Amino acid sequence: MPDPRVIGVDLGGTEILTGIVARDGTVERRRETTTPTESQDALLAGLDAAVEALLDDSVVGLGFGVPSRLDQKTGRVEGSVNIPLEGLDFRARMSERFLRPVGIENDANAATYGEFHSGAGRDVSTMVMLTLGTGCGGGVVIDGKLYRGWAEFGHMVIEYDGIPCQGSCTGRGHLEPYVTGTAATKLAREAFGPAADAHRLIRLADEGDQRAREILDGMGRRLGAGIGSLVNIFDPELVVIGGGFAAAWEFLVEPAHEVMEREVLAPAGGRVRIARAELGTAAGLIGAGLVAFDAADGL
Ligand SMILES: [Zn+2]
Repeated sequence: MPDPRVIGVDLGGTEILTGIVARDGTVERRRETTTPTESQDALLAGLDAAVEALLDDSVVGLGFGVPSRLDQKTGRVEGSVNIPLEGLDFRARMSERFLRPVGIENDANAATYGEFHSGAGRDVSTMVMLTLGTGCGGGVVIDGKLYRGWAEFGHMVIEYDGIPCQGSCTGRGHLEPYVTGTAATKLAREAFGPAADAHRLIRLADEGDQRAREILDGMGRRLGAGIGSLVNIFDPELVVIGGGFAAAWEFLVEPAHEVMEREVLAPAGGRVRIARAELGTAAGLIGAGLVAFDAADGL
């Protein structure tokens, strides 16, 4: 009998990443397909095909990381960002289709689980993660256990009556519109014209451009305010920063650290570390696999 393995699925707005995940977090037969976004039926057909391509008798469970708001009790997807998945009993749909235990998790929570298990957080028991991409997601592991509820850290208020939030969020002064790649592109255009974006901003900062560095420094300070609040709530050993905009890491981390130190209650500031995520896009896939094992184990 082969070792039990699971299929992890990381559903993104543009790509579906799948792989066979072992209990130690190693991934085999990693595949990428384009996310069908025309309709919910097309999206489900794409997910079915991605799973079927890897399914065999050694697979004991399926795990899905989805960019969605979930109800973990019912396994229902309430709504999603950027993909047509809404109001669906997703877990029941998938377990009926594939006759295996199915776990689902928000994509940022799944990435947090992956980094905790196999990446930057492998040596700690309590960590917070923020993913900086188009939006700002988050997740938290407390005493070795992934918190399976909402952890929408990008939507914590860091400035009362501040700038409007991104996407469909109607709030103001949330962390997200200050620290994402989307925010960087907006600031880059204001400073350097309509052709500029987040990538160009980082490149200019790399080349020593003072204005670009000041913009990223300001973003790092806002990030530090958010991290400080999270440290005051969770007292983590580690804060992990991931997502595509973590590419600006070297310009963000010092100002973020400085502001975090100022805001946190003693002695949390002295013992918390801020580290960059290590697994890149594999974090969400590995995390989805771990969620599948939890489902197979009946957790
Ligand atoms: Zn918001």
